[in-house]
Amino acid sequence: MRLSRYFLPVLKETPAEAQIASHRLMLRAGMIKQASAGIYSWLPLGYRVLKRIEQIVNEEQIRAGHIPMLMPTLQSADLWRESGRYDDYGEEMLRVTDRHGRDMLYGPTNEELITDIFRSYVKSYKDLPLTLYHIQWKFRDEIRPRFGVMRGREFLMKDGYNFDLTKDDALHAYNRHLVAYLRTYERMGLQAIPMRADGGPIGGDYTHEFLVLADTGESEVFYDSQVTDLTFGDREIDYDDVAQCQGVLDEFTSRYARTDETHDAALFDQIPEERRRVARGIEVGQIFYFGTKYSDALGATVINDKQEQIPVHMGSHGIGVSRLLGAIIEASHDDKGIIWPEGVTPFHCGIVNLRQGDAATDGACADLYAALTRAGLEPLYDDRDERAGAKFATMDLIGLPWRITVGPRGLKNGVVELTSRKTGDSVEVSAEDAVARIV
Ligand code: ATP
Ligand code: MG
Ligand code: MG
Ligand code: MG
Repeated sequence: MRLSRYFLPVLKETPAEAQIASHRLMLRAGMIKQASAGIYSWLPLGYRVLKRIEQIVNEEQIRAGHIPMLMPTLQSADLWRESGRYDDYGEEMLRVTDRHGRDMLYGPTNEELITDIFRSYVKSYKDLPLTLYHIQWKFRDEIRPRFGVMRGREFLMKDGYNFDLTKDDALHAYNRHLVAYLRTYERMGLQAIPMRADGGPIGGDYTHEFLVLADTGESEVFYDSQVTDLTFGDREIDYDDVAQCQGVLDEFTSRYARTDETHDAALFDQIPEERRRVARGIEVGQIFYFGTKYSDALGATVINDKQEQIPVHMGSHGIGVSRLLGAIIEASHDDKGIIWPEGVTPFHCGIVNLRQGDAATDGACADLYAALTRAGLEPLYDDRDERAGAKFATMDLIGLPWRITVGPRGLKNGVVELTSRKTGDSVEVSAEDAVARIV
């Protein structure tokens, strides 16, 4: 992409309404624009990152054997009356009436809708296990939308639902989700710690939240510092292997790590004092096992091998896709701007032309652009007629992991400058070497 033809409305001024770094930087980098309180337009740069996050979520869900689909944003109130949640959900639910006077709502979550789909088609234990998920916009009329996409009213969520014959099978589905989530967050360059949590309006007390530690997080968390030493890494996992998935859950949840909702001071005090941590965290996901709560209410049953009708065991599992942009930036930025982890960066590298209009420099930039593209990378080429300082500031703000600076002086010696956004280190190398180091 050539910057001269792109739409990247960066702001020079720091927007007054933004209280935390990620919100400030997303506005300044031209990633989002508020449409109304807690509702955002995703400008091209923000949209690119959102799509990359979505893709990682999809890949890891599919790897775990979960099946993608798509349900609508608007739902009929009738289903929610059946489950009893229409009245329970309260003012967070946005209710609308259509022209025929029918009560509708903008879905804050999808347990009812998916259970209705399940009960319409699945009749036999032979069709289980089944896990369906989608990535769809949700609406919650949050009392205090704030921090940009971190607490929006309209936000993008991945929500998945497992249907199983027995509690044990459903717990295996729970463990599969835990493993898939660990992989998902790590691919985004994030450490998200599973912590024991509270069920809230979804229900059930068998649940973990995934928290990214950050001073600006809205949750208070208590944990044993040993949990931060754990990483999933690139170990092989067989998602059908019940014992292996259980092993990962045990490994990642056996040390003390809880949100304030479930915090137990007496247990916490048993941890050696030097390992006790009280901090703040951003909730980027949550997994639940809630048994037959919704299948009982909505009559989602299957016939087992003894020809008995039994309600299925269910769980639901969410990832805050749009919130993740904020969480990643909170975890990875400096005073110049964002520092994207390679896994989610909107472009793989930037090319800065120091002498726009000079035939040799323009030609070298064009060749470099072509070579990067051939190598399967997406560069953002700053071909504007601007001062070098302004071009560097833009690149630093939008945080691409690599910058290649091309100017007449270097070209005379056959080199370009390759700079890492994260370390700030620069090396002078040939254009071919620069490409090879990025790939
Ligand atoms: P919170 O405690 O932050 O209000 P929640 O527990 O109500 O979140 P869940 O029902 O667990 O949210 O939804 C799954 C995920 O969706 C959350 O873990 C979070 O990452 C994301 N999420 C929830 N509410 C919002 C919101 N208002 N804006 C952006 N993301 C959200
Ligand atoms: Mg909430
Ligand atoms: Mg919560
Ligand atoms: Mg939650």
